[in-house]
Amino acid sequence: MRVLVALGGNAILQPGQRGVAAEQRENVQKTVEQIVRMIRASHEVVITHGNGPQVGAILIQNELGSAKVPAMPMDLCGAESQGLIGYMFCQSLENTMRREGIEGREPVCLVTRVEVNPDDPAFSHPTKPVGPFSTEEAARKRMAETGEHWIEDAGRGWRRVVASPDPTGIVERNVINTLVSKGFVVVASGGGGIPVVRRPDGSLEGVEAVIDKDLAGERLAAEVKADVFMILTDVPAVSVNYRQPGERRLHRVTADEVEAFEREGHFKAGSMGPKVKAALRFVRNGGKRAIIASLNDALEALEGASGTQIVP
Ligand code: ADP
Ligand code: MG
Repeated sequence: MRVLVALGGNAILQPGQRGVAAEQRENVQKTVEQIVRMIRASHEVVITHGNGPQVGAILIQNELGSAKVPAMPMDLCGAESQGLIGYMFCQSLENTMRREGIEGREPVCLVTRVEVNPDDPAFSHPTKPVGPFSTEEAARKRMAETGEHWIEDAGRGWRRVVASPDPTGIVERNVINTLVSKGFVVVASGGGGIPVVRRPDGSLEGVEAVIDKDLAGERLAAEVKADVFMILTDVPAVSVNYRQPGERRLHRVTADEVEAFEREGHFKAGSMGPKVKAALRFVRNGGKRAIIASLNDALEALEGASGTQIVP
């Protein structure tokens, strides 16, 4: 089967860790061991991943270093994070496949742009906090000077917010499909991809926004015609009444059933909400099966024995 695997934050950084390089490398190695189990079982895997903590760190470095070296805009920071994370995955994939005697499956990481609509309503309602916290005074100064949006973030200080527009397509779709069809293990669209808009003259331009990695993952799954779209995270399955009396894990559900639970408000915005939305889009667009499962049960979930299986 061809599987698009979307990895959550826990694939690279565990809660409570500081994010030193050795920790991230170790987490990526554990993640890759799960992925290589699927490759061993002869599945064709395409990988995407989040970048929240990593791009957050890059933004802080840019901000604090700006007296000495110019700070870079968000699209460039996003590209930087894709390279950083993609390199860790390629190194681990290469070494692990070699150790396990898997031949002819070279990994490759692609810096990927994802198109968004310049008229997306998200641009007039920025919601996604990014970068370092600041004082009210500094935030107000930045807003006046740059036109950026800053908000007070739950008593923790002021923080910049950017738009989270809907992904419409993967710019590198042809390159990715060529690589996948030749047997490469492709890592693409990291952090939801670098958001770009098409200008009236046809040219592309990077924008300061963040695309949800699960929704971008769905676009990638559709582009590579994946049989399965698999979202791996830090819970074993999707629940209704999550962390409440009557909590129940969903094993196998149809899109209609999940949509009814979604309307009842069982999936939190910013965490399970976008995963369910992305999974629903995949099966509504002709996908055969979407899975939301724990990273630790990747192969079991693919075989239908674990996680939440969403079918048309
Ligand atoms: P990732 O980094 O993998 O995208 P998120 O934190 O964004 O992870 O989303 C996973 C989290 O969603 C889980 O840790 C869980 O706390 C939360 N969550 C919210 N609603 C639900 C639900 N209905 N069922 C299961 N998990 C849920
Ligand atoms: Mg998330």
